[in-house]
This record gives sequence, C-alpha cells and structure tokens, in this order.
Amino acid sequence: MLYHSTHKKVFGVSLQDAVVKGLADDKGLFMPDQIKQLPHSFFETIETLSFQEIAYVVADAFFGEDVDANSLKRIVAEAFDFDIPLVSVDESCYSLELFHGPTLAFKDVGARFMSRLLAYFIQKKSQTDVKVLVATSGDTGSAVANGFLGVPGIQVYVLYPKGLVSAIQEAQFTTLGQNITALEVDGTFDDCQRLVKSAFMDVELNERLNLTSANSINVARFLPQAFYYFYAYAQLKAIGKADNMVVAVPSGNFGNITAGLFAKRMGLPIKRFIAANNRNDIFLNYLNTGNYEPRKSVSTIANAMDVGDPSNFARILDLYDGSHDAIKYDISGFAYTDEQIARTIRAGLQNHHYLLDPHGACAYQALKDGLSSNEVGVFLETAHPAKFKETVEKIIDTKVFVPAKLQAFMDGQKSTVPINSDFESFKTFLKTV
Ligand SMILES: *Cc1c(COP(=O)(O)O)cnc(C)c1O
Repeated sequence: MLYHSTHKKVFGVSLQDAVVKGLADDKGLFMPDQIKQLPHSFFETIETLSFQEIAYVVADAFFGEDVDANSLKRIVAEAFDFDIPLVSVDESCYSLELFHGPTLAFKDVGARFMSRLLAYFIQKKSQTDVKVLVATSGDTGSAVANGFLGVPGIQVYVLYPKGLVSAIQEAQFTTLGQNITALEVDGTFDDCQRLVKSAFMDVELNERLNLTSANSINVARFLPQAFYYFYAYAQLKAIGKADNMVVAVPSGNFGNITAGLFAKRMGLPIKRFIAANNRNDIFLNYLNTGNYEPRKSVSTIANAMDVGDPSNFARILDLYDGSHDAIKYDISGFAYTDEQIARTIRAGLQNHHYLLDPHGACAYQALKDGLSSNEVGVFLETAHPAKFKETVEKIIDTKVFVPAKLQAFMDGQKSTVPINSDFESFKTFLKTV
C-alpha cells in the first residue's frame, strides 16, 4: 500500500518510509491510498472472534501488502495481550474500556502496535540502534515508553518539561530503565517539542544517527485505533444490540475518532459518531459554522484533550473531500466545561455505580445529550480514572482505587537526565549516547 500526504504534494510513499518519517516532506499527514472494504462474511460472524482475531483482519487490510502474514499475526499478538471489554453503564450506553493496557490509557494500543511494526522494519533492513525521540506533556510519553520497552534495536528518548507533568505520569516513563531514557527539560512542553523538531531538521545529527518520531500522527500509531471499533460492534452484536450503533469519542487531536471514520469506510455498520470536547471546542465550532478557526488551547480537567489545533482535522477533511455537509452528516459534537464534566462523573457514580475519568465523562455525557431512543450508544473510555486520581477524588470526595499496575510505577526508582532547553546541549547529548 502506498501513502500520500494530506497536502497533496507528496505521493507514492511506502509504509516503511511513512512510519519512519512520521510527517510527509510537505508537512502534511500521511493517508493510505486505499481504504479497503471488508467482506460481508466477516461481519456475519464477527461476534465469534476475539479482539486479536479481529485486529488481525483489519491490520491485514492496511498492512498485509507490506508485512508477511506470520509477522503481522505475531505483531498483533504481542501488541494486544490485554482485553478491551464493553461494559454496560445504563439502559442505552456502553463503555468501551480502552484502559487495560500497561499505562491504563488508549494510547497503549497505537504505541504497542507501532513499536513492533518499527522493529519489524528495522530487522528487515538489518539496522540497529534506531533512536526514537518523543516530546510529551504526560500521556504520550508513558504510552510510547512502555510500548517500546525492551524492543530490540530501538532506543527511546522521552523529553518532558520538568515539574509540569503529574507524579503518576512521570513515574510511567522515568522508572523503566532498559532502552528508555527520560530527559527532564528545564523548560515547557513547547521547548521539548522544539528540541525534537530541531533534531529532525539537523543535518549533522541525521547523518550520524537513525532518528525517528513516535508522535500520534504516525500512521503506525493512528491506524491500529480502528481495530477496537470493530470489536465494540462484535460485542454489541453478541448481545443483539448492534443496530443503530452510535459511538461517542472524547477528542483532542482527533486521531481516535478519525480511526473510527476509517472503520466505517471499511464497512463497519456504525450509524454515526459524536465528537466530545472539553472547552477546547474548535471542532464543534467548525460543525456549527463551517469555519475551522484554531485557537490557543485552554487548560481543563480533561487535559489530554486540551488541543487548540487538532492535527487530525486534516485527515477528516481529506476523507470527506473537504465537504462540511458530508462531515456533519456523519459527526455531531458537544463540548463541556469542567463543572459539567464533574457533574457527569458524580452522576455516573451515584446513578450507575460507574466511575468515569474526565475524558470518558465528556463522551458519556455527549451520548446522554445526543442519543435518540432507537439508538445504542458506545463511548470510548480512554483512561482509567486513577490516572487522574487527584482530580477525580476531589470531584467524588472519595478515594479512587489505584490498580496494582499503576501503583508499581509509583513504587519504582526515578531516573532522569536533566538537560536545559537550548538545542546545542541536546545535540551534544545525542552525539555522546
Ligand atoms: C490522547 C487522549 C485523548 C484524545 O485522543 P485524540 O486521538 O487526540 O483525539 C482522550 N483521552 C485520553 C485519556 C487521551 O490520553
């Protein structure tokens, strides 16, 4: 399969190059040239398949031309050794729990798949010592670091702003050791991003080192997010509820929901989508007016969705040939303030004994506000509430149970390399490791 750029100036890029490059040379996002339809027979028996089996069929449609069947099966089996259960919350709404992976958030799905796919290409080229650079404000770093942990031939460098990520987030990428190095930058998240971008543009570094990125726009992280939409449908079909399925997605950079739109294009019978936002409601504003007006992000309690210029909006436009009407036909939107998110979390616990995290809460509320009586709602619960322990405890005035997996990170020994925010010292560091 070949890939083209959303800016339409780059065409005919191989999967391997798209994965290693991340972003196209014209600064657009990579799109596969084709989104294959899956056969009816697949949907007729989908409820009998496991998540791994479903993931393999969908992965094969995207990657089967570039990765041999046995390797692809192994990549899927290694990446997805956890379940993604669909849990009933009330009469009409189900939670697709995407937080049973190692860092208890949905980004594990893409990060784990990407790390194995990259390792496969590295092995094919007999390369060693590939360096993955990733800047993080918290969640991406933990998913990428854990996704790549112990993967041979790859060194990961996580750059994060000193003192600006939560204790739980920091523990998830500073206590791992092995092939993961955490760089504690004396600066902001923007400084971290600038350092990474400068490294990719530095001619000398790129001549000496194999550098690659693992950010969320990478096709190898983005496309696997389509897999679990099929599994949600399979689980609804198993209980006879799959007609008129509506999926609500808590959205920041819009990678997750865009992967769902890909699943629909492949023939998955999802009736429509709801994009749930916090106060960063750029997309909702686009739905209402037809104008896309990026803004500086504002901080909220659903901070993984604090995005003022969602990068995957370009992919949505590409998918719908820029038609505002067509986009509105498939996607509606809602946006919530911190107070509304808090109220939803309290109501979910009191009325249904289900503890939502602030991101999932936006999506659940969007179903409450947007679902018709003949529809069945699924919302993506993108993180375990314990990842936002302080926030959630304040809202419900009760202690939040911390799963053993998460506690184990907190008990680990922190190890970081402090660097300052100028590029020359980062460059010197990279040349000496
Ligand atoms: C990243 C993230 C989101 C937003 O996902 P996008 O693909 O950027 O829209 C939502 N919830 C959580 C917990 C996240 O970490």
